[in-house]
Amino acid sequence: MLLPPPPPPSSLLPGGAPGAGARAMAGPELQDEAGLREQQDEGGERGRGGATAECARGRAAVASRAVSEAEAAASAAQGDPDGAGPRWGAQHAGARELAELYSPGKRLQEWISVILCFSLMSFNFYHLLFCLRLEHAFSIIFGIFAGIITADFASGLVHWGADTWGSVDLPIVGKAFIRPFREHHIDPTAITRHDFIETNGDNCMLTVVPLANMAYKLVSLSPALHQSCPWECYVFALAIFGTLTNQIHKWSHTYFGLPRWVIFLQDWHVILPRKHHRIHHVSPHETYFCITTGWLNYPLEKIRFWRFLEIIIQGLTGEKPRADDMKWAQKIK
Ligand SMILES: [Zn+2]
Ligand SMILES: [Zn+2]
Repeated sequence: MLLPPPPPPSSLLPGGAPGAGARAMAGPELQDEAGLREQQDEGGERGRGGATAECARGRAAVASRAVSEAEAAASAAQGDPDGAGPRWGAQHAGARELAELYSPGKRLQEWISVILCFSLMSFNFYHLLFCLRLEHAFSIIFGIFAGIITADFASGLVHWGADTWGSVDLPIVGKAFIRPFREHHIDPTAITRHDFIETNGDNCMLTVVPLANMAYKLVSLSPALHQSCPWECYVFALAIFGTLTNQIHKWSHTYFGLPRWVIFLQDWHVILPRKHHRIHHVSPHETYFCITTGWLNYPLEKIRFWRFLEIIIQGLTGEKPRADDMKWAQKIK
């Protein structure tokens, strides 16, 4: 059976709008196909042509025991049948070049960020337990919920900003912080080969400052802190979910070997589900940017929030959205 090429985004809705509803419609038809089909979709604009399902299943049988083997199969399945070489995945020329830009200095920054962040998280969690009061139970639960929603929105804002604007050529931030976003679109399974430090280093760096500020308050204002406990719980939930965003994102790309509790959380949409995140990975990567829980993706798409921001910024700066992302996607050598 030939896998039909996915429709171009412009065909999902009349007028070319990549409506969430229409994209979500694409989900169920894929649901019966097991992980490999999803891997194949995920690899980019996908499966351009032509690997057969039998071929894919054959590879899946070999690959199902280990994530890395599965990725190899998925990457192979994305080869261009026209003989022009692999289009998406680790063999893509742009992906190889971007992977080589991961430097020892960047690695050191990630290590320091992870150690600081997780130390502060443990410290704050321990001290926060002493400020909890039963009479604040409702506002504490509300604070935690609001923190998770805020983290989801922040993940969307950062992801949209890095996907849509800027360039790998920018000094310092280009190679260090924009590069991983470009790599992720042309080699989406690369993230599953990144270790814990590379996956979480950048997010840890972002949350170190609020966590350090919180630690200071917990120590210096300790007796009076129970008054502001719901607020501290909000900040803590925001920091935890913000820190774990890319880990959650990595899980949404992993089809083999996930712990059962992670699959449970994905299935109940507590964290970003795999099928949900696939909607973002349809070229030109212009919607569903929230990658913590994904709860805000549908409402933001409904009000065309990202498109609205892009029109304003394009009007003010003249910059074209996703110009750099397109450039890397089209790199062939
Ligand atoms: Zn993206
Ligand atoms: Zn992704």
